[in-house]
Amino acid sequence: MAWRSGGATNTALIDNLLRNHLLSSPALAVAFKSVDRAHYAPTDPYADSPQPIGFRATISAPHMHANAAEALLPYLKPGGKVLDVGSGSGYLTRVFAEMVKPGGKVVGVDHISELVEMSIQNTQKSVEGKALLDTGVLRFVRGDGRIGLNGEGPWDAIHVGAAAKGLHEELVEQLANPGRLFVPVEEESGGQWIWVVDKDESGKVTRKREYGVRYVPLTDHPGERG
Ligand code: SAH
Repeated sequence: MAWRSGGATNTALIDNLLRNHLLSSPALAVAFKSVDRAHYAPTDPYADSPQPIGFRATISAPHMHANAAEALLPYLKPGGKVLDVGSGSGYLTRVFAEMVKPGGKVVGVDHISELVEMSIQNTQKSVEGKALLDTGVLRFVRGDGRIGLNGEGPWDAIHVGAAAKGLHEELVEQLANPGRLFVPVEEESGGQWIWVVDKDESGKVTRKREYGVRYVPLTDHPGERG
């Protein structure tokens, strides 16, 4: 199922995701169609597969981006605040910004400064992307996303685009009431599972293990490895 949604154009790719029920929200479909994946994926942008973007990172496959956005959908509202950890190419961060505008705030965090720079350049390839950066709706910053972005939350939605070692309580703490965290977690067996962590209006936290996935790991900065 993973590879069959590719298309010849950006619109065809998103239409195929809809047809294959990998995407169902009309609002998300509009957001995805308004962002040309070719601005973010250097090779085969309309294939439903991950593509290398350098620095051992990949832009995730379109159906994975669709899954993540669908999971966070109730929290992607105009005026909302979204944190994208491991923002890489900047593609999904940009789609989130389409969902929260006007107003709203989306910050992509990546620990590789070259990727942060690349995500800004990718986003500047369109007038609409540039406007999101210029108005401050969308920002990309360098940092260790495992600790979130202190002082700027709370976040209605936090997306983690790389596999974590645990549920990172700092991220849960930075969720708004209500808010939702979407995070792939690596288990001791070596498998990875999506966890969805919800914080309700009263601050009560519930954690749900969803489905098996394969993401690149959330790591120490490469320069810090021993
Ligand atoms: N959502 C991105 C996924 C990029 S791959 C996209 O689709 O383009 C995962 C990203 O996580 C990489 O860019 C990598 O540099 C970043 N990453 C890994 N560990 C990190 C950490 N501790 N803090 C911030 N970013 C991290």
